[in-house]
Amino acid sequence: MPYNHKLALLLFASFALLGTPALTNADNNTHQNKASNDSKSHAPDHHKHWSYGGEDGPEHWGSLEASYAQCATGAQQSPVDLISARSAPLAPIQINWAPFVPSVVNNGHTIQVNVEHQSQMVLDGKTFTLLQFHFHHNSEHTVDGKHYPLEVHFVHKADDGTLGVLGVFFKEGEANPALQSIWDIAPLEKDTIVASHDFDATDLLPAERGYYRYQGSLTTPPCSEIVDWAVFSHPIEASKAQINAFAQLYANNYRPAQPINRRYILRSE
Ligand SMILES: [Zn+2]
Repeated sequence: MPYNHKLALLLFASFALLGTPALTNADNNTHQNKASNDSKSHAPDHHKHWSYGGEDGPEHWGSLEASYAQCATGAQQSPVDLISARSAPLAPIQINWAPFVPSVVNNGHTIQVNVEHQSQMVLDGKTFTLLQFHFHHNSEHTVDGKHYPLEVHFVHKADDGTLGVLGVFFKEGEANPALQSIWDIAPLEKDTIVASHDFDATDLLPAERGYYRYQGSLTTPPCSEIVDWAVFSHPIEASKAQINAFAQLYANNYRPAQPINRRYILRSE
C-alpha cells in the first residue's frame, strides 16, 4: 500500500475517533459521518431568532416579526391540553414507514432526525409523507394539564402543502433502544451527523394506537395553522438517563398549551 494512502487512512481514523461529541457516549461500533451536504437541514434562516424563554420566548413570538403574527392572533394554535376530547369513530392511522438512514441534526432548538422521503401516513383518508421527527422536553401536548417528560413529533407533508404531525409521548421507565441509537450520535452543538445504520421509526410507536385528533398549527414560529394533529394516547417509555440526556441539551423546549377556542378534540373509541 502506498505511503500516502496509509496516511490518508490514518488521518481518517483519527478524525472518526475525535468526531463530534454525541448526546451520550457513542459506542465505538457506531460509525459516524459528518453530512457532506446538509442543505436539507440547514437552509439559510433569515428569520428573527426565537427561543423558549425570556424576551424572545413563546409569549413574545407573535411580535418578533410580521411573519410570526399568527403565533399571537391565531385561533387554532398548538399545542393544546387534550383533556376535553370527545370519543369518535375514527379510522386507525395507517403508518407505512420504511427503514431509512437517519441524519441526526442539532438545529439549535431540538434534536431532529431527517428522513428519506419514502414513508407515508394515511390520516382520515389523506396521505402524508414523513419528512422528519424531533423531540420536546417536556411534552408540548398535555393530558388533564399534565406534561409527559418527552414528546416526539413525526412531521409529514401532503401534496397540497398541509402537514400531518403525529405525536408520541414518553413516560419514564425502561431504556428505549431505538431512542438510544439516535442519542448515541446526536451532536451536542449545531451540526448534522449521518448514521451508517438503518433506523426503523416504527420502533418509536406505542403498541396501542388509540389517538387524539384536532386541527392546529406549528408549535414554533411562524405558527402556521396548517397542521392535522394526531397524538397517540398511550405513551412509550424512555429511561430517566435518556430523558436527562436530552434535558441537558434542550430543557423545556416546549410551547405552553394554547386556547382550544371553537375546536373539537376527538379521541378514537
Ligand atoms: Zn414539535
